[in-house]
Amino acid sequence: MTEPSKKIVDKINVDLIIEARWLVPVIPRNQVLDYHAVVIHQGCIVDIAAIDAAREQYTATKTVALIEHVLIPGLINLHAHAGMTLMRGLADDIPLMPWLQNHIWPAEQQIVSEKFVRDSTLFGCAEMLAGGVTCFNDMYFYPQASAEAVLQAGMRAQLGLVVLEFPTNYANNADDYIEKGLLTRDAWRGNPLLSASLAPHAPYTVSDTTFQKVITYAEQLGLGVHTHLHETKAEIAESIEKFGVRPIKRMANLGLLGPNLTAAHCVQINDEDLDLLSEHGTHVAHCPSSNAKLGSGIAPIPNLLNTGINVGLGTDGAASNNRQDMFTEMRLAALLAKATTEDATSIPAAQALEMATINGARALGLDHQIGSIEVGKLADLSALRIADVETLPCFDPLSHVIYACGCEHVSHVWVAGDLRFERSSQQSGLYANIEPNELKEIALLWQSKLNHHKA
Ligand SMILES: [Zn+2]
Repeated sequence: MTEPSKKIVDKINVDLIIEARWLVPVIPRNQVLDYHAVVIHQGCIVDIAAIDAAREQYTATKTVALIEHVLIPGLINLHAHAGMTLMRGLADDIPLMPWLQNHIWPAEQQIVSEKFVRDSTLFGCAEMLAGGVTCFNDMYFYPQASAEAVLQAGMRAQLGLVVLEFPTNYANNADDYIEKGLLTRDAWRGNPLLSASLAPHAPYTVSDTTFQKVITYAEQLGLGVHTHLHETKAEIAESIEKFGVRPIKRMANLGLLGPNLTAAHCVQINDEDLDLLSEHGTHVAHCPSSNAKLGSGIAPIPNLLNTGINVGLGTDGAASNNRQDMFTEMRLAALLAKATTEDATSIPAAQALEMATINGARALGLDHQIGSIEVGKLADLSALRIADVETLPCFDPLSHVIYACGCEHVSHVWVAGDLRFERSSQQSGLYANIEPNELKEIALLWQSKLNHHKA
């Protein structure tokens, strides 16, 4: 009787063990571990071992057995405007500039407030969590309101402090945007779930003088920069007319390109653009659904990847996608690459998953903490249940994640080891701190206000 109890005493106490049928750590590439456990203590991954070995070595406060699931790193949405979630479907089937000028900007003028952004961001967080996203790179007005929603959901976010030249409900001019953004960031500096970037909206909405101020602040404060770049042909034509150069060249001349910059879209890219992005180590957020829906084009992602550019994936806002669903983006990124190059080997499943995880983490400067399942990293994890008719049989769980699975297969989502979303096969899903009925009420409230505005 003394032997077994002695053995138990020798075991290491930990907070959580997740046992998975399959484990896809992302690093190393293409690895699928069968019947492995992730051992988690104080939010961090302390061990990855075969299930039997983990049971021998550790005693956990809680053990979760995922007998028909694949465990992957939490997905990272590299380009979002969660504050626009309640504008989903407000104006569809319209090109970018008339969409912005005639629909989105007037609607924002009518409706955007601290309260709207908080509600909208909470809605966006709920949608993303249920789709396996644990971290997103945002850009919107009232970042303090976004921060509150992100913390309620218990997610991780890098919140872009938006900078524009023109007045909005949030700020009056470029200096006002910068000042308000930096004050906000001071309030949540040191929070492990939140980080900040400076987010000059785009080359067509921000002056050279303001870009220079952004560069100075980013350097002084060690912040990343998040912007829209080369989204449409019209953007490039306007830049050539106004500045005599394409926007990427203008950004290079100003000194904006660099390893701290994440450029969303990069749809219209020539060889010179490609060289400039690559030389400066700029990261790209590929948003294939938004680019397709707005008729902007298809970004030449295989060329970018071949040049060594780090490319992550983003959904863009719910007003231009209209889903904040990284499974759609991963699948579309892989399929479009194959279709445009007429090469089925272009962007294989493992690479599509890297784009939605470790590449996003690199762009955010968080790849030492998140983006893969490795010892020492934070336990930001998502599990998918592979047991439904549309996901069976399963020869390769990694390719299933990209080509067969969707948000509806996400069963568990952890952020730093805390369970933030759970859905059994019969349920619509439960959040740790979000009440689904409350979300419905919020949606109806704002929908009635936006409908009124539309009329
Ligand atoms: Zn965007």
